[in-house]
Amino acid sequence: MGSSSAEGAAERTGAHGASRPGDLAATTTAAHAHARYGPGVALLVIDMQNDFAAAGGSLHVDGGEEIVDGVNAEIAAATEAGSPVYYTQDWHPPSTPHFVTEGGPWPPHCVRDTPGAAFHPGVTIAGEVIRKGVDGADGYSGFSVRDPQSGARSSTVLGERLAAGSVASVVVVGLAGDYCVLETALDARAQGLDVVVPLALTRFVERTEGDRERAVARMREAGVRTPS
Ligand SMILES: [Zn+2]
Repeated sequence: MGSSSAEGAAERTGAHGASRPGDLAATTTAAHAHARYGPGVALLVIDMQNDFAAAGGSLHVDGGEEIVDGVNAEIAAATEAGSPVYYTQDWHPPSTPHFVTEGGPWPPHCVRDTPGAAFHPGVTIAGEVIRKGVDGADGYSGFSVRDPQSGARSSTVLGERLAAGSVASVVVVGLAGDYCVLETALDARAQGLDVVVPLALTRFVERTEGDRERAVARMREAGVRTPS
């Protein structure tokens, strides 16, 4: 699963990620994107799913749809430079303590095999998909999940994949900046990886005012680089 539309990513986005001649912003973004990738670098695309990224999604992150083009430019740049791309996908059972219906914090979202759990149709899929939240676990980080009852943590395959590919540095983009992007970035730092979170390529839930600032501060304190 997950690599069906890998071919043509570069063509669709344009060889240098800028499909609109004269669009200085796109060109500049693409130039930055290119500089980030190469040997030992991986791109992690977090939860670009309909329930988060599409207007009308059950847990829509404000502005989530605005980052689709920028995320695709990163995917194209990474692919062109030979950097692997990994995608996380929140993938819950219909009933889980993660949901408010069972005492959890969130409205039901990304229920497996539903349109809300599918990737936003605009996002290029060009790499392995790593599902999290499967079997009712809380899955914020791409690296690990937590049993909501026992609190026991277990690892996804992401850490193994990065180690096997001699990845020393990751770029983390997607949704949401104060939850899954944050937890993934912190876990990556804990694993000794160099981590970049370009702030233009994420959006924040901001359940409580100031969550965005606090999340960015936590990332910076952990040594995550957060260019605009
Ligand atoms: Zn979830």
